[in-house]
Amino acid sequence: MSRSAHPAGPRYADVLPEGHYTAPPTDLNALDPRVWSRTVTRNAEGVATVGGLDVKRLAEEFGTPAYFLDEDDFRARCRAWRDAFGDDADVFYAGKAFLSRAVVRWLHEEGLNLDVCSAGELATALDAGMPAERIALHGNNKSTEEITRAVEAGVGRIVLDSFQEIVRVAHIAERLGKRQRVQIRVTVGVEAHTHEFIATAHEDQKFGLALAGGQAAEAVRRALKLDGLEVIGIHSHIGSQIFDTSGFEVAAHRVVGLLKEIRDEHGIELPEIDLGGGLGIAYTPEDDPREPHEIARALGDIVTRECAAAGLAVPRLSVEPGRAIVGPTAFTLYEVGTIKELPGLRTYVSVDGGMSDNIRTALYDAEYSVALVSRTSTAAPMLSRVVGKHCESGDIVVRDAFLPADVAPGDLLAVPATGAYCRSMASNYNHALRPPVVAVKDGAARVIVRRETEEDLLRLDVG
Ligand SMILES: *Cc1c(COP(=O)(O)O)cnc(C)c1O
Repeated sequence: MSRSAHPAGPRYADVLPEGHYTAPPTDLNALDPRVWSRTVTRNAEGVATVGGLDVKRLAEEFGTPAYFLDEDDFRARCRAWRDAFGDDADVFYAGKAFLSRAVVRWLHEEGLNLDVCSAGELATALDAGMPAERIALHGNNKSTEEITRAVEAGVGRIVLDSFQEIVRVAHIAERLGKRQRVQIRVTVGVEAHTHEFIATAHEDQKFGLALAGGQAAEAVRRALKLDGLEVIGIHSHIGSQIFDTSGFEVAAHRVVGLLKEIRDEHGIELPEIDLGGGLGIAYTPEDDPREPHEIARALGDIVTRECAAAGLAVPRLSVEPGRAIVGPTAFTLYEVGTIKELPGLRTYVSVDGGMSDNIRTALYDAEYSVALVSRTSTAAPMLSRVVGKHCESGDIVVRDAFLPADVAPGDLLAVPATGAYCRSMASNYNHALRPPVVAVKDGAARVIVRRETEEDLLRLDVG
């Protein structure tokens, strides 16, 4: 193990890819509120706390790795979205970001609706008491069983994603003596990711029915003819981790264009549009996400303006944030195991988790920040790469980070903004036991998803 400090300096620019840190942050002990959940701070001893509980005690009680979810922050974000969109719109939390029974109850209490995209997510939502009419079912290849369960339960909407599905859902609804409320998912020719959107090569993907070429209009035509379906609106979801509203502007323009076409052809004005989710969060202090009220105002203005221009009544709007609600509310706590210095390059700091609890770095080249949280340090900044314990060289948690040069085995590191798409994408690779999710609130911590055990693993292995 090396304790030697790398002096901070321009030579790091050589090894850092463009857009990554080129200089160490001025204060490695600071827990920047832009990336940490609301109640995270350091106590008088320098130990980080969440909801008033210090991470050393939390690690002792719950073990590492573990996700700690700040319940007050989660609820505050739900309320911010609800309040921003008001009574004329609906906020559907995208359950795929992270779903558990506790989360469903919080959503219900805070007045949000819920998107599910599988039978498992639907079962979780119904089991925890989410009223079926506040659930929407998504997916590009919903099974007959999934559709049947959703229709039987009476979900508020199914978002239709293909010509086959239009017939399938209608057939199942008719057989059950029901008329299912549906939206039709369209691809508007805009794909937004991070700071830019791409207005070409967008239809080449598996979701939705393309507006261009008339597939979406044809889907509406077919769906309107079927007794089992009540077509309530058009749905568009343009991407993920989006920081500006220009992509939504193009999407709203094109969706309203379709509503106008439908009015002209069929003489009906569909009452709803859904502009999807995908709003970005801060994984590092460089990210600058929009606040819910800014997004609500921008989307409301766009839709109102486009409808006025098309001579349509303004439809009821819905949005589907997942990441933007749960992402910032949790951090992953790890213990440092081994440290390897590669002279002139960087220092590899291995933690007791990795790609099994956070696949996003390997999968999307996602960027994260990290901090030493079990103590403060006055050591010099050391260019580090935080890696996991799995048998893959791509098993990276944080690609480029500065940690204090005296970081040592037994220290606790925390990676903020891991509430979305980490536990929900967790795997048992190398027969890792998936970590628990611990909700923290007002000085109390409770497990909402328990840690897996070897017994859990072996129970599936029936020999
Ligand atoms: C994934 C998804 C969302 C949520 O995306 P976030 O980036 O988590 O906000 C919303 N709607 C649909 C249809 C999705 O597939």
